Amino acid sequence: MKITERVEVESVVDVTCDVCDTSTRIEESGYQFGTLQAHWGYGTQHDGERYEMHLCEHCFFQALANLKEQRRVEHMFSDDPQEHSNDLGLVARSDFFKESGP
Ligand SMILES: [Zn+2]
Repeated sequence: MKITERVEVESVVDVTCDVCDTSTRIEESGYQFGTLQAHWGYGTQHDGERYEMHLCEHCFFQALANLKEQRRVEHMFSDDPQEHSNDLGLVARSDFFKESGP
């Protein structure tokens, strides 16, 4: 026997940037956004706090530029070329089909 009932289902209808509030939807490819997330644990000043931000392409790369600048300042006197790399956080290039993992 099938028992039917009208059920309200919540679904994602848009993903907006948490910084500039624009939609991250791109006509050709759906939602395109970067995620900044953290779940702080025992021993940290923010123990138990969870963060998740969705960033549009522009705001993601603006945040990345800010982090690169902070990194540059913190390693200003280092001779290690790795610490002066411009690829902070980059794990793959030409990975059009997300083949290199999560
Ligand atoms: Zn944005």
